[in-house]
Amino acid sequence: MNEQKKILFYEEGFFEKSVKEYDPILSSFLEEEKRRQQNQIEMIASENFVSRSVLEAQGSVLTNKYAEGYPGKRYYGGCEVVDKVEDLAINRAQKLFNAKFVNVQPHSGAQANQAVFLALLNPGDTILGMSLDAGGHLTHGAKPNLSGKWFNSIQYGLNKNDSLINFEQIEDLCRTYKPKIIIAGGSAYSRFIDFKKFRKIADKYDTLLLVDMAHFSGLVAGGVHPNPIPYADIVTTTTHKTLRSGRGGMILTNNENLFKKINSAVFPGLQGGPLMHVIAGKAAGFGEALKDEFKVYSQNVVSNAKALSNTLMERGIDIVSGGTDNHIVLVDLRNKCITGNTCEKALEESGVTCNKNGVPFDETPPSVTSGIRLGTSAATTRGLKENDFIIIGNLISDVICGFKNNICDPNIQTVVKSKIIDICKKYPIY
Ligand SMILES: *Cc1c(COP(=O)(O)O)cnc(C)c1O
Repeated sequence: MNEQKKILFYEEGFFEKSVKEYDPILSSFLEEEKRRQQNQIEMIASENFVSRSVLEAQGSVLTNKYAEGYPGKRYYGGCEVVDKVEDLAINRAQKLFNAKFVNVQPHSGAQANQAVFLALLNPGDTILGMSLDAGGHLTHGAKPNLSGKWFNSIQYGLNKNDSLINFEQIEDLCRTYKPKIIIAGGSAYSRFIDFKKFRKIADKYDTLLLVDMAHFSGLVAGGVHPNPIPYADIVTTTTHKTLRSGRGGMILTNNENLFKKINSAVFPGLQGGPLMHVIAGKAAGFGEALKDEFKVYSQNVVSNAKALSNTLMERGIDIVSGGTDNHIVLVDLRNKCITGNTCEKALEESGVTCNKNGVPFDETPPSVTSGIRLGTSAATTRGLKENDFIIIGNLISDVICGFKNNICDPNIQTVVKSKIIDICKKYPIY
């Protein structure tokens, strides 16, 4: 055996060593990132902390396996075990969302959307999605994205008065441009989306309806958000945001005909071998999401977001649409004369991680923006309660109110940071 190892491996025993033993440089970065996650409050709305079980599944030996194709119809041998894993992920997703057909192979949310476009559209077709500044996603037809380059992309926005989806504009655009697909869903929209209304418009103008539930799918699974499945022709999602599973994408539908097209688009149309270790991570996370505890988690995500939003508003800070129905709180900094990018940096210095974000009718470029987006899903996983979010809301307000001429008072940041670290210590991760 030893003889064989000498021939196989250039360094004795390297195969059995941990990252820590074998690669101290990389290992120190991994430890550093773990410390960062531990010592900051994670308020990026798209992030979450997965359980050890999901981490383990995603870091498993399934990474070694090629499994092009679908369970029972693979292009490689040795797939009998990964078939079981993929079927488990599919079955759990079907149950979670009450969907007839599910593809769990998309490598990411962006690729899930690309697969839908590849399945249902031709280059040059007209697509209608929500604009970035209204809270839409790049893959919904934004100019720098493939969806904006290869398709004739038209975009809808929000009402000026209440910052809710402008359905009149959607109808006008449908009447004029006859899009082949309407995309509902976004990355910075904090209100329930009226899927029924979207369905009505799609029927009236004979277009397909894609709902991208990337952000709120975990809340749907947890029963605190309307489920788009009964209304949409196709639903796409990420699996790692509020859904807290292995990192990737997924496509769901009740339409068998469309599902066949979707499957061929994902493979062989767009992707090669599925990431079977990630699919295992998805199965692990979906299993958690089926439990009653996940319902409680989802309820807490939403009540925490409401507590955060109310606290900020009480401190005189503008919240887009005046509150939230989900995990997102979109802060409008225009009345404070602070830009999103400086606020993001000031909060990071103070121990709060979030991202700058455009707000409706924002006139600054996407690299600057006039807002920040906050989300409660990650910190809620750590165990933070409404009371903690009231404290954090006040600390964030201290930072925002500590600005003069777009510069934050460093003394305020120091005080906030030490209080944030105290909260972090109360809720350890991993
Ligand atoms: C996050 C997100 C995506 C993209 O997901 P990735 O996994 O980052 O590619 C797509 N659509 C929406 C609405 C999102 O919020």
